[in-house]
Amino acid sequence: MERHSYDVVVVGAGGAGLRAAIAAHDAGARTAIVCKSLLGKAHTVMAEGGIAAAMGNRWPEDNWEVHFRDTMRGGKMLNNWRMAQLHAQEAPERVQELEDWGALFDRTDDGLISQRDFGGHKYARLAHVGDRTGLEMIRTLQQRAVALGIDVFMECTVTDVFKDPSAGAGPGVVAGAFAYWRESGRFIVFDAPSVILATGGIGKSFKVTSNSWEYTGDGHALAMRAGASLINMEFVQFHPTGMVWPPSVKGLLVTESVRGDGGILKNSEGERFMFDYIPEFFKAETADTVEEADAWYDDKKNNRRPPELLPRDEVARAINSEIKAGRGTPHGGIYLDIASRRTPEFIRKRLPSMYHQFKELADVDITAEAMEIGPTCHYVMGGVEVDADTQESAVTGLYAVGECSGGMHGSNRLGGNSLGDLLVFGKRAGEHASSYAASLGGTRPQVDEAHVKAAQKSALAPFEVEGGENPYTIQSDLQQSMNDLVGIIRTRTELEESLAEIEAFKVRASTMVVEGHRQYNPGWHLALDLRNMLIVSECIAKAALAREESRGGHTRDDFPGPDAEWGTKNLVVNLNAEGTGVDLHEKALPEMPDELKGYFA
Ligand code: FAD
Repeated sequence: MERHSYDVVVVGAGGAGLRAAIAAHDAGARTAIVCKSLLGKAHTVMAEGGIAAAMGNRWPEDNWEVHFRDTMRGGKMLNNWRMAQLHAQEAPERVQELEDWGALFDRTDDGLISQRDFGGHKYARLAHVGDRTGLEMIRTLQQRAVALGIDVFMECTVTDVFKDPSAGAGPGVVAGAFAYWRESGRFIVFDAPSVILATGGIGKSFKVTSNSWEYTGDGHALAMRAGASLINMEFVQFHPTGMVWPPSVKGLLVTESVRGDGGILKNSEGERFMFDYIPEFFKAETADTVEEADAWYDDKKNNRRPPELLPRDEVARAINSEIKAGRGTPHGGIYLDIASRRTPEFIRKRLPSMYHQFKELADVDITAEAMEIGPTCHYVMGGVEVDADTQESAVTGLYAVGECSGGMHGSNRLGGNSLGDLLVFGKRAGEHASSYAASLGGTRPQVDEAHVKAAQKSALAPFEVEGGENPYTIQSDLQQSMNDLVGIIRTRTELEESLAEIEAFKVRASTMVVEGHRQYNPGWHLALDLRNMLIVSECIAKAALAREESRGGHTRDDFPGPDAEWGTKNLVVNLNAEGTGVDLHEKALPEMPDELKGYFA
């Protein structure tokens, strides 16, 4: 079997993985990147709007304190305060560094990096490249990683994290990872004391999603199987604006920049309805008349923000309510109109990808007509529970970063804060993983050969079954079930029903069958991914059932408001002792120091 030895193995080549690998390499570690698609194809490449960083290029008043406050308020105070603080403090330097490495950002008139408005951010704060920021970010990081000579294993999927069995009690110590080449189906063992999970999100567990095929929650599940816990899994972000038509592109993202640049939401009666949905929490800073909202675009100092730029959870719920009340569009969405508000030249310059996306996929000219949009599963706030400063999980040597880690965004992520998160915590994870590996000297954790055999057997299990079910049917049923029962609005009965259905999917998956051979076999790949999707789905449904309140990306019809008691705790999930299901417990939020509490007075 192919075998490699490294100090640090990074699983994932999105923004988080690439930034972590660069940091680990710069800190002296022998580093490898393993990614299940081609290098450059990670999900980060799809990010449109920008990177949130309080650089103060448009608003000198902006600083890390305001960004920290916005992030915590956006997350409805459930964020890990330390992560939100580090993120706000370090994001500007990370953006500047990207520019030093060759990223070409849009500019202000006086030549600084341009920053645009996004929901929940008090000031224009998103450093951007048109609406293709993720592409530029990946291009820059990837070029640097390749130039540094970091080894890359692409089209290679990690299916297990190994621990050293001699490490004794406790969550354990990492020894390496197990993977297979997608093309040949052959296995690889990585011996490494540090493994950084940077595998992105979980969106493919839902039917309508902005996420690509890769987002099957692999890192979440790998961490759980290795003994780490996940936090905040009930909080799934449904982006307010996904395409609704034609069916083949349902869920595809329509960037928030459309609203940041002047777009407004209207129902089928032509009403600009967001004024009816301004929650108490944001009343003081949101315009309550059309005049003030429109004046804000030209005079931000003397006017409050339009309600279309409330945090995503608020806007998604409002859209959902309008559609449910029968004021939706012919294809079951709501209108997003920038055509009547900006010139065609402005739209084509600021939103080139959106212009092409609608023209080519829906035959809609967004400079001349309104778009039809609706909520789409977009991002998971929940992820691996990590130490805020180092990104290490409870398992020694196992780190998680980017969308597969949890805590930073609380119950709701602000737009732009993910790309900042990848850079800030990618660097931190890489540095800490590297220094931990170096601290071990010559005595490293060892991969147990019995574990290698077990990983191999488990990966090949779907070939051994006869007469079982095809993984595609189970995946499709799971996606529909999660959409219907654990979607944007939840109830106890539906969540209980969902957990019963997940149990049934688990039984079906235990006998799923794969046809053919190990050489490029998408059915087999899906069978392996599906195990992860099932674990992650159970975590989401279980945590959503337990949290009896509505907050951020978790709305319970039977508990419609936030609850003060629930606002003091997180929900944490682990794999049960038998490895067959998910255990859940409550955990108090870490105490915020008094000097930071002052920002919320
Ligand atoms: P990814 O970029 O998804 O990378 C995951 C990597 O892990 C991939 O290389 C994949 O191949 C690899 N991988 C997964 N599983 C395995 C495995 N088992 N073995 C090996 N490799 C594996 N956020 C913002 O802040 N601003 C925006 O403007 C913005 N726009 C967005 C637009 C869209 C359409 C979408 C979908 C998201 C957007 N987001 C935005 C969110 C943001 O893009 C993501 O949260 C972020 O890019 C995730 O980065 P990541 O590095 O964690 O994961």
